[in-house]
Amino acid sequence: MSVLIFVETDEGALKKSAFEAVNYGAKVAQQLGTSATALALGAVNGGELEKLGNYGAAKVLHAADEKLNEPVIQAYASAIAQAAEQEGSQVVIFSKSSLSDGVASRVAARLQAGMAANVISLPETSGGFVVKRSIFTGKAFANSEITTEKKVLSLKKNTFAIEETGGSAAVEAFSPSLSDADFAVRVKGVEKATGDVLLPEAERVVSGGRGLKGPENWNLVEDLAKALGAATACSKPVSDADWRPHHEHVGQTGIKISPNLYIAIGISGAIQHLAGVNSSKVIVVINKDPEAPFFKAADYGIVGDAFEVVPKITEAVKALD
Ligand code: FAD
Repeated sequence: MSVLIFVETDEGALKKSAFEAVNYGAKVAQQLGTSATALALGAVNGGELEKLGNYGAAKVLHAADEKLNEPVIQAYASAIAQAAEQEGSQVVIFSKSSLSDGVASRVAARLQAGMAANVISLPETSGGFVVKRSIFTGKAFANSEITTEKKVLSLKKNTFAIEETGGSAAVEAFSPSLSDADFAVRVKGVEKATGDVLLPEAERVVSGGRGLKGPENWNLVEDLAKALGAATACSKPVSDADWRPHHEHVGQTGIKISPNLYIAIGISGAIQHLAGVNSSKVIVVINKDPEAPFFKAADYGIVGDAFEVVPKITEAVKALD
C-alpha cells in the first residue's frame, strides 16, 4: 500500500506544485499509516528528484523513457495507472494543471477510483474519506466523500504550505509498458507563452486593466513584474481588445490563479474578475477611483494614478536588491 504523487516538471526542473503535492501526499500517507511515493515522467535534471525526500517522499519512481518527454495525456495516464498498480497505491495525487486535468480523470477511470478535484484540505478519515473542495470558482466549498477503495485527488494549487521534512528518498527506475495506442495523439511542438514566469505557476502576479489606457503603456506592468520576478496578467477587456494575449486573461472566463501576491493596476474589480483571483494570499489594488469595488477585496490599496504610482513602486523594489 502507498500514496502515489505525480510530480510535474518544466524544462527538467520540478515545478513548485510538485513540492506542494508531495508534502500533502506525505501527510495523507501518515494518516493512512503508509508511505509516499513520487512519480516523475520524462527527462528530469540531475539531482532534482532526490530533493523530494526532503519534502516527504519515501521513494521516487522515474520513468525516463524519452517518449515521455512530451506530455502525452494517454501515455501519462497509462504510466501513472501502472505505477499505482505496481505500488498498490490506495490514493493517487495530482496538482491541478492543464496537463493533470486531462490525466487525472483517465487514471481514475483506469483504476476504477473515485476522484475529487480542486481539493483544499487533508482528508477527514475518521468515518470515511472526506475532502473539502473549492467549487463555483471559489465562491463555495463542497465536502465530498470518496467511497471507492482507490481514490484520485487533484489539489488546488498554492493552497498548502511547503515544508521541508529533513528526509531523503531513493530514486528508482520505472518502466511502464506503453503501446503505440498510448501515443495516438502526439505533441508536435510547444510554444512558450510570453514572459519569463508562467502565470498559472507564479507566486507573484502583476495584472493590468483598462485603466492603463492602451498596450503602449504595458511597460508599467512589465517593469514591475520583472523587478518582482512576477508573471503578468490582465482583465478580460484588455485581452478582448488585443492589448495583451488571451492566455494572460484572469477571471471567471479566464485563468484562475492563487499566487501569494496579486497586484491589480487600473482594474475595477468586477465580480467576474475577482472569481479568478480572490484566492490570492495578498491582494494589492492600485486605482485612482477610491470607490472602485476592488478595494473591498484588497489587503492593501493605493488610491492614485497608476502612471505616477507604479514607476515609484518599481524603483523601490529595484532598490531592495
Ligand atoms: P474597467 O471596468 O473599465 O475598469 C478600469 C479601472 O481602471 C477603473 O476602476 C478606473 O477607476 C481605473 N483607472 C482608470 N484610469 C486609471 C489610472 N490612471 N490609474 C489607476 N486606475 C485607473 N472580466 C475579467 O477581468 N475576467 C473575466 O474572466 C471576466 N469574465 C466575464 C464573464 C462574463 C459573463 C461577463 C458578463 C463579464 C466578464 N468580465 C470579466 C468583464 C467584467 O465584468 C469587467 O467588465 C472587467 O473585469 C472590467 O475590466 P477592467 O477592470 O480592466 O476595466
